[in-house]
Amino acid sequence: MKVKCPICDRAMPGQKVEWPDHPFCSPRCRMIDLGRWLGEDYKIPAKNQPVDEDESSDKEDLD
Ligand SMILES: [Zn+2]
Repeated sequence: MKVKCPICDRAMPGQKVEWPDHPFCSPRCRMIDLGRWLGEDYKIPAKNQPVDEDESSDKEDLD
């Protein structure tokens, strides 16, 4: 089985059990990957959302 760390491309020979951080070669690469997709999640800008200042629509039920 030939596996490469998807983060740093380091070859990871041997069994999965020899790599506790599989599919990453090290805890560091695991964190990098985690940070990547977390970062992408946070990077989505909400700039297309117009600020809705018209709050009157919620007051229709006051009667
Ligand atoms: Zn790695």
